[in-house]
Amino acid sequence: MKLAGREISRVGVLGFARTGRAVTNFLLARGVEPFVSDSNPLVDDARAWLKGAGIAYEEGGHTAELLTQDLIVLSPVVSPRLPLLNEARQNGILVISELDLATQVCPMPPIIAVTGTNGKSTTVLFIEALLRRRGLAAIVAGNIGTPVVSIVEEAKTCDALVIETSSFQLEQSLFFHPRVAVLLNISHDHLDRHKTMSAYAAAKARIFRNQTEEDVAIIPSGLASAFPGIAGRKVLFDRVRLPSCSAVSALPPHNRSNLQAAIAACTAIFPSLDIGPISAGELEEAFALPYRLHDEGEIDGIRLINDSKSTNADSAVAALHSVRGPLVLLLGGQQKGGGYDALAEEISKRSVRTVVVYGEAAPFLFEVLQRREEITVLLSSDFESAVRIAQGVAHPGDTLLFSPACSSYDQFRDYIDRGAAFSRLIRISERDGAPS
Ligand code: ADP
Repeated sequence: MKLAGREISRVGVLGFARTGRAVTNFLLARGVEPFVSDSNPLVDDARAWLKGAGIAYEEGGHTAELLTQDLIVLSPVVSPRLPLLNEARQNGILVISELDLATQVCPMPPIIAVTGTNGKSTTVLFIEALLRRRGLAAIVAGNIGTPVVSIVEEAKTCDALVIETSSFQLEQSLFFHPRVAVLLNISHDHLDRHKTMSAYAAAKARIFRNQTEEDVAIIPSGLASAFPGIAGRKVLFDRVRLPSCSAVSALPPHNRSNLQAAIAACTAIFPSLDIGPISAGELEEAFALPYRLHDEGEIDGIRLINDSKSTNADSAVAALHSVRGPLVLLLGGQQKGGGYDALAEEISKRSVRTVVVYGEAAPFLFEVLQRREEITVLLSSDFESAVRIAQGVAHPGDTLLFSPACSSYDQFRDYIDRGAAFSRLIRISERDGAPS
């Protein structure tokens, strides 16, 4: 296999979950010998698979065996700043992302890449729908679920490849070069990994790093001067005019903004494309994503909104902008960024009856919110009682908004697990009678 002008025959695969496995398959299909290395113990099924395929591996830590490879490919979860990787680079070994591997080795259609703190998944699905409904073959991959290395064959015959890219993937990328790069927004998030906001913004800005003047960079006007090094033609997506149709006017502000970015991306890659009116049907697929402002219906006259995918302060602010009338807000989980003063500010402007906080971040959230005397905040240790308390303090006609503004990993496998738990718990009170 050739990559960046080098002949590659031995590749270290760092991290062996979904991406690592997909990378391993990609390499095997090209006659390249993978060496798998995971800092954690492997699950039984992964170990059995590697043994069955006769693939060399190590688990529970990385060793100098990695330094004998021609190339190292990182799974998104792996920090490119590991000391062993610095040593590898000093030995002349290329250390790259899975995005680099796929796009350097295989022929690709024009690429639209989307990044941002919030709205990536929704926007890539908007782009896919807009293109498909107008007769163009688009395929979606990346951080949304399917590694790009897994769809290289299908991508070949498509008109466009739409890739959701996280700051983790961009931070690891050396060669990734999208024809159209979209940066939706940047707010406090992932500071557990990036440490500072400037490091986080710099990781996001790497989406533009290999662009030339023939490419297009799509950004909001508020960030226009924040990245002076952008070589591509800049398009300010908040200036895009949305078609005036009922499907579009029904969208909450953050999704109008995501749709503007999606339209800008489609017309940047296909300049003669006429977007025309947009139907509710074509936006539906993006709204089928689980637990993004999902309306769970009414119980005891209280409307329940499950926004478990809200994992930072800014997505909770967007949720507050999307809900009308009096509400009870449920926040909590594991903190991984800042921005909570802005959230507190927003809460104090809205008719929020009570905020219930739970989980690892609860004492911190309690402290931040309690500083404002207009906010009533209640603290609960565990999720189950928090849901019960929130239902108990809500009045008929209120909305109970679960937009946790924190990650789920303190108590749940992921946001889906957390969303499902909320959905189940709110119905327990329905079965048992009024909440206590
Ligand atoms: P991502 O893929 O970046 O996590 P999603 O589209 O899955 O984004 O949405 C994640 C959360 O962010 C949801 O709670 C959603 O309501 C909220 N959200 C979506 N778009 C935006 C936006 N442009 N600004 C702020 N919050 C947003």
